[in-house]
Formats: sequence, structure tokens, C-alpha cells
Amino acid sequence: MDVALTGNDFSNTPENKSGNPAITDNEPNMDSLLSELEQMKKKSDWLARINDLHGRLAGAVDMNSMLEAFSVWLMPFVEHNLLGYNHIERQRGHMFCSSHGPERRKVLQVAEKTFAYVNDLEDSIEWQVDEFWVRVWKVDSKLANGRILLVRHGKRIDAEEIKMIGDALKVLSEPLRRALDYEDLFEQVRRDTLTGLANRRVFDERIPPLLAGAERHGRKITLCSMDLDKFKQINDKLGHAQGDTVLQQVATTLAKMVRSSDILVRMGGDEFILVLPETDLLAANQLAQRITEAIDRLEIYSSPTEKLGVSIGLAEWEPGQNKEDWMQKADELLYQAKNSGRGQTCM
Ligand code: GH3
Ligand code: MG
Repeated sequence: MDVALTGNDFSNTPENKSGNPAITDNEPNMDSLLSELEQMKKKSDWLARINDLHGRLAGAVDMNSMLEAFSVWLMPFVEHNLLGYNHIERQRGHMFCSSHGPERRKVLQVAEKTFAYVNDLEDSIEWQVDEFWVRVWKVDSKLANGRILLVRHGKRIDAEEIKMIGDALKVLSEPLRRALDYEDLFEQVRRDTLTGLANRRVFDERIPPLLAGAERHGRKITLCSMDLDKFKQINDKLGHAQGDTVLQQVATTLAKMVRSSDILVRMGGDEFILVLPETDLLAANQLAQRITEAIDRLEIYSSPTEKLGVSIGLAEWEPGQNKEDWMQKADELLYQAKNSGRGQTCM
């Protein structure tokens, strides 16, 4: 194992006026020259490694690929089973684990347990959980609670390795922050700013692979297209700000009613779409009824006699049908519901 030499800058080496290493008694001191050469070689090896790390990190934009790049780079110098990153305020947790099977589960458990414990700690810590050695570093003071964690089976992480990781983390911290910002941005452009629901971009991205999967496995999938009834009256009578609050209330209500595998999107205005994988028309209709009742229970009035309701069009996807035709079908059914007096579901 080579030694990390950051900080060993040769500034204590006696030099003569020309800047060359000092020669005592006018004779070269072979031992000191050889030792200096050895030091220089180690330093140059280390710089080459750091350069390699910069290159690997430059190619990674998101947190997962960045952690993986760092772990792969580190492995020949510091063997480990897991490298993790956790940031409590930004609610991020990423793990890269090279173990498999039962050991993988154990290593992940150890990492999660450690993160749950260390988030309140100020300093780096080390501990042992069964046969695993764990060490945690604070990454960067500007990233308040950002932590890097390393788990290794069977062997303690020694001082030389700790120094090497500490030096490498100085290189990692800036790209890490870049990856966090990138992920925030990536997340933002996929969210509707008013309601926090997914936006049309998510719908456009996720539907084609979903339909391809349904085609391949012969699965049902139903589209539920919803539009609030006479929503303009809320804006007109109660003001646009109150209209915004109503849209947020409706979004929260819908979000509580769907499964994590469903895709709920605010398409724009007072129009929402819900994609229901593995769901036929019958099951979708039951959900549509529950949605209608839930909106009714919100008791939002634009006037003493006008209560907010929702119209719904349900279209089960037919094998071979493309996204546009499927959406158009749901849209036609939605407007059929509007024309039949609103507050209804058509399918
Ligand atoms: P219908 O029953 O036929 O659906 O009529 P509606 O009054 O609900 O009107 P429609 O669905 O055609 O139009 C929705 C209105 O929602 C249009 C626009 O003024 C309003 N709207 C769109 N986006 C927002 C928003 O972000 N905030 C608020 N407050 N209003 C919005
Ligand atoms: Mg409407």
C-alpha cells in the first residue's frame, strides 16, 4: 500500500542557492538522494491517481454514478464493501455496495444504522458492528450534514488508509455539491411549482416505456383524465390566490389516494391525469368514484349554491394503441362527462 503524501511538500529539504538539493562535504549523500527520489516518485504516483479521480468524477453528473466512480477508484487502494453518502437537510441518501446476497443486506443494514446514529454528531467516527468496520467522514463544512461512510468486512481501516481517503475527499467534495445541485434542478423541472405534483414532462417520459411493458406482458393500464368543474368561478368570485389554494388542496387530496406505482400529473390549469398501471376499467371506475366523493367532501364553494366538483374520463389502453390516441380517447370521454352535466365519470 502506497502512502498518501499530500502535505509532504519537501519544503524542509535543505537546498543550495541554485535550488538543488544540498550536498554536504561536497559529496553526494546517496541515501538522502535515494530517499528523496523515492518520495518524489510517491508524490508523482499520488498526483497521477488524483488526476485519474478528477477524470472519473468529471464524467459523473448524478449522485449514484459519482459514488460509484469514487468507490471504483478507491477500491485498489482501500478495499471496502460499501461507500455511502447521506445529507440530512437535503434528504439525500445514496449507497454504492459491491457485496452481493446476504452480505449485501447485512452491509446495507450496518450503513443505515450508522447514518441514523451519526447525523447529529459533529466529528468523524469509527466503530465496529459485528464483523464490519465502519468509518464516517464529514465531507465539507459548507454541506453541513453531508457524510461519507465506508464499511469494510473483517479488517479495520488503518491510519494510512484514513489519510488517503481524507485527501481524496477534498477532491470529491466539490463534484458532490455539483451533483446535489444538478439533482435538485433535475427534480425541479419535473415538478409542477404550484402543487408539487409531477408535471407533463414526467408523463411524456414515463408513458412510452410503460406502454411497451404493458404490450410485452399483456398487462392492463388505464388513463384517468380529470378536470375540475367550473373552476374559473372560484378565480372570478374568490380571487386567483384562493384559486391557487384550491388547486393545492385538490392535488394533496389526489396524491393521498394513489399508489406509489401510479403516475399523478398536473397537466396544467385545473386538469390532472392519473395513469393506473395493472388496472382495468372496472377498478379504475371504483377509484374515480372515490375521487369524486373526496373532492365533494372538500366542500369548496364558489357561491352558496356552487360546490366544486370534478369530471372524469377513463380509457383503458388497447394493445397497439399509441400514447396520443390513448390520451385523445380519455379526453373525448372527459368532455362527454362535461357535456352530460359535469360531476360524472365516462368510460
Ligand atoms: P369546466 O367546468 O368546463 O372545466 O370550466 P372551468 O371553469 O373549470 O374552466 P376550464 O377548465 O376551461 O379552465 C380552467 C381555468 O383555470 C382557466 C384558468 O383561468 C384557471 N387556471 C389555470 N391555471 C391556473 C392556476 O395556476 N391558478 C389559478 N388560480 N387558476 C388557474
Ligand atoms: Mg375545468
